[in-house]
Amino acid sequence: MDTVLTIDGNSFPGIWRYLLPEDFAYMKLPQERHSTCHNCPSVACQSFRPDYRCCTYLPKMTNFQLSQVFHDNPESIKRLVHRRLVTPEGLTASPTDWFLSAVQNTSGQFGKGDLILCPMFNKELNNCGVHRFRNATCSTFFCYKDHGAEGEIFWDKLETLVVQIESALSQWIMSELGINIEMFFQSLADAAEDWTPPEPPISGPVGWTETIMKGLWQDWYHRETEYFQKSYQLLQDHKHELYEIAKSYPMKRPSEFERKMQSKVPDAISHRLSESETYQKGDIVSIESLWYEFSAVQRNLLKIPSSGEEMVQNPYLSLVELNNFSLDQTLKPHLEGYSHAVINPDSPTQNLDSMVVIKSHETELWHYFSSPKPIDETLYLELTDQDPQEIMRTISEWIKRQILVDRKRI
Ligand code: SF4
Ligand code: SF4
Repeated sequence: MDTVLTIDGNSFPGIWRYLLPEDFAYMKLPQERHSTCHNCPSVACQSFRPDYRCCTYLPKMTNFQLSQVFHDNPESIKRLVHRRLVTPEGLTASPTDWFLSAVQNTSGQFGKGDLILCPMFNKELNNCGVHRFRNATCSTFFCYKDHGAEGEIFWDKLETLVVQIESALSQWIMSELGINIEMFFQSLADAAEDWTPPEPPISGPVGWTETIMKGLWQDWYHRETEYFQKSYQLLQDHKHELYEIAKSYPMKRPSEFERKMQSKVPDAISHRLSESETYQKGDIVSIESLWYEFSAVQRNLLKIPSSGEEMVQNPYLSLVELNNFSLDQTLKPHLEGYSHAVINPDSPTQNLDSMVVIKSHETELWHYFSSPKPIDETLYLELTDQDPQEIMRTISEWIKRQILVDRKRI
C-alpha cells in the first residue's frame, strides 16, 4: 500500500491499487512528458513561484491518507494537529482558509500568490512531503497535457472519481470510529455561519479555533494521534474491500459549509467557484457512474481511426528544428531530448501549449504523413525501427493536438 503505483510513467499513491477496480492498473494513460516537476516549466512559462509552484492551495487530504502519513512520520501529523489544521475528516479548510483559497485561486494567483500554501510542502527538499500519499487532486494535476483539451477532460474525470471515493471512505472511517457525522457537518456549517472575513494582511493556512476544534473532534479531542493509529489499522484490515466499501457507503455531502461560505464571498468569486464545479453542490453521483464515465473517456483518448480513414499532416503547421528556431530562452531547459517542434508559424507566441515538441526519430512519422495515409499495418512495415506501441501513442496524441488531420477535412 505504501509502494507507489506506476502506470505509463505516471506515479500514483500505492493505495490506488485498492481504491479503484483492478482494471485501472492495466489501462493506457497519457504520459504527460512535459509536466516535469523537478524542472517545472510553469515557472518559466507561466511565472509560477519557483518554491511552491502549483502547491499554492490547501489540499483536502482525507483521514486515511493522513493515517498513512502518520504511520510513516508521526511527527509531521502531530505538527498539523498542533496547528489545528486537522479534523476527523482529514485536512479540512477552516472558513478563513477556505476564503483565502477562494480568493487566491479565482484571481489568477494560483501558483503565484502566498495567501495560502500547502502545509505538506517540504521546503528544504523543495518537493511534496507526502508524495506517496497525496490526494486525488494533487495526483491528477498536470500543468501541460500531452493530449491538450481532451487530456484535461481525462484527468478531470479521474479526479472526480477518486475524490468521490476518498470522500466516501473518509466518512466511513469517521463512522467506524464513532464520530457523529451529522454533528460534525453541523459544526462545520455553524463555523461558516459565524465567520467574518479577516483583516488583511493575512496568509494561511491559519486553521480552526480551539472551540470549534472541540466540537469537531467530539470524543476524540486531545486523542487525535490515537484516532490516526486506529484509522490506519482500519485501512490495513479492509484494504482489499476499499472500492466496494466506497461504492456502497451512504455518503453525506457537507454542502451547507460550502453554501454558507459562498454566500459570504463577493459574487465574482462565488460565480467563478460555481463554474469550476463539474457537478452541482449537493449532488451525490454514484461511484459506478463515475467509473463508467472515466472508462469511456479513457477508451476514446487513446483511440485511433480505423483503417478506412486517412490521416495527413495538418497543412497549417510546419516542422522546425529547435536549434535553428527562435525560442524563449527560458524554455530551453524543458526541451532536453527533443530536436524538433511542430508549430503554427502564424501563432503570435510559441510556448509549450501552442507547439508539439518531438524527438528526432518521430520526424520520420511526421514525414510519413506528408501524403494521406491510412492507420494500418503498412505503418509498421515502413517504420520498422520504431516500437509499434509508441507509434500508436504518438499518432493518438497528434490527432488530439491536430498535428494530423483527417484528409476529408482539408
Ligand atoms: S505539475 Fe506542473 S506546475 Fe506543478 S510542479 Fe509539476 S511541472 Fe510544475
Ligand atoms: S500535498 Fe503535496 S502535491 Fe499536494 S499541494 Fe501539498 S505539497 Fe503539493
